[in-house]
Amino acid sequence: MSRAEPPFDDLYREVILDHYRRPRNAGALDVPTHRAEGLNPLCGDEVALELVVEGDTIRATAFRGRGCSISQSSASMMTERIRGATVAETRRLMELFEAQLTEDAEPDPALGDLEALHGVAQFPVRVKCALLCWKVLREALTPIETVDDR
Ligand code: ZN
Repeated sequence: MSRAEPPFDDLYREVILDHYRRPRNAGALDVPTHRAEGLNPLCGDEVALELVVEGDTIRATAFRGRGCSISQSSASMMTERIRGATVAETRRLMELFEAQLTEDAEPDPALGDLEALHGVAQFPVRVKCALLCWKVLREALTPIETVDDR
């Protein structure tokens, strides 16, 4: 079976371009409780993430960044998806998101719009772009302990 270059459209789906053009939760929070930032030197992508975590729930999210449409739309969709989620749910989403990119797992319905980035799995050089904001999120949440109740 030959593996042709996947069509470019797989990478730049409309929902991705929409989040890139109109990023959700762009900016900074007044009083973040957690923050982290990161860089993907391969592509020049940058993401700085701020969160308000109350108890075990992520109440507010914001990010500032620059870089390619994959890195920035991933951050926009991620901040939308995790707002209102518990830290434990968010860690589960991290695993599901990574799995759809690095293990080519079928997207889990829990990912919502983030499923659109599944096509990036066929473009290995871009996987780091999509994962950047999630690495930053992991770092931001590192001080918070959760019980894995799966
Ligand atoms: Zn990139």
